[in-house]
Amino acid sequence: MRWKLIYPSWRKLEGQTPFHLPPHAPVVVAAEVPDDIELEFADDNVDTLSLGGHSETTDQPDLVALSIMLTAQLPRAFEIAEYYRGKGVPVLAGGIATMLHWEELSRHVDSVFLGEVEGRLAQVSRDLKHGAIAPVYDYLTDFPAIDSVGSARRDILNRKRYVYRGVPMVDLVHASRGCRFNCFPCCTPFLGGRQFRPRPIKKVVEEVQSIDNNRLFFVDNSFAQDAAWQEELFKALVPLKRKWVCHPIENNDHLLELAYEAGCWYVYQAIFDTSDVIRERVRNYQKHGIAVEGTIILGTDNHDEDYIRRLVDFLLEIGVDLAEFTILTPFPHSPIREQFEREGRILSNDWAEYTCDRVVFQPKLISPRKLQDLYYYAWETFYASADQNLKMAELLRKTIDREIHDGTYQPSALTSGRRHPRSAPASDQ
Ligand code: SF4
Repeated sequence: MRWKLIYPSWRKLEGQTPFHLPPHAPVVVAAEVPDDIELEFADDNVDTLSLGGHSETTDQPDLVALSIMLTAQLPRAFEIAEYYRGKGVPVLAGGIATMLHWEELSRHVDSVFLGEVEGRLAQVSRDLKHGAIAPVYDYLTDFPAIDSVGSARRDILNRKRYVYRGVPMVDLVHASRGCRFNCFPCCTPFLGGRQFRPRPIKKVVEEVQSIDNNRLFFVDNSFAQDAAWQEELFKALVPLKRKWVCHPIENNDHLLELAYEAGCWYVYQAIFDTSDVIRERVRNYQKHGIAVEGTIILGTDNHDEDYIRRLVDFLLEIGVDLAEFTILTPFPHSPIREQFEREGRILSNDWAEYTCDRVVFQPKLISPRKLQDLYYYAWETFYASADQNLKMAELLRKTIDREIHDGTYQPSALTSGRRHPRSAPASDQ
């Protein structure tokens, strides 16, 4: 039996450097595909997915599984599903955006898979062998035991596709799931429950050791959820000498020192106001050698033109190393969506526009057009003195210095000899 796992493409954020990271969800799913199934993977962002091209007759898997992370992937997911269903191939959809849009998706696919995948694909395989997959596999609130999460199968990735200007991209990995916070624009509490679920450190270490890349991105929602666990994790990472990026770390001198020692390179830190709390937080990361990429959402109800211009000045003043601006986007199942629906402020439900660089709601203090213009203003002003590539190159240079210092630098940044036991020889597609 042959399954084809597809990661649909979407339009990237306008203003952002156009690189592609190796996706995380498909490699996590691949690790759970039963051993007797031959698995093919296509990342529609970097691989050529020909729908109806020369491969039409040979491209006949027993199942197509769509891994859909973002709302903006939906339009392409619908196209892909229509094509394969037209050929009689059953299509199953899973992933974060499937959970957010399952009712709409179920009109386009044969089956929706809701929830986390560990231990659940054998049932799908059995159903398929017996003639039909179920219309819904609902595990949304039934989380698998966190210690059942094993190492992802990165051998399905075509590594040569994930290189930008000669630099291999970081590999994505996770050390925990869930989030105990409930921020207003975020669907994560709906998706992962409000409970922080750290993986056993031993399993994280095993997975990191298996990754054929010295540079990683811990995609955990936030490390800043359990101080004792952070300490244990960072201590365990020190000997591995990897360099990594992550979301926030607790603002605690001891933990930040340890995080740097463990290889922390830079953090994504939400910057939502111009307060001394933010100024101090950024300063403290940088004092410990950790760079900061500010993530800034524009268009909240207290944002007028003056506020947004002041926010951009503030980022330059406090010296964040990089900034990523997005426009507030009311994704389904987020607290902000509920508010805007109540207030009749949703302007568009065209999911192709839900890329976080388009205004799809009525802002409170300015017009949609003004907010869109201020979004462009923010990117241009922040990167006026040095463009994004130069600022990123500067961060990379600092990391290369550290790698040279601790003896882990490799010009290609790819190490060798660590492969997943089920991996096939690397090939260029
Ligand atoms: S924005 Fe981050 S910290 Fe806040 S709820 Fe979402 S994942 Fe948690």
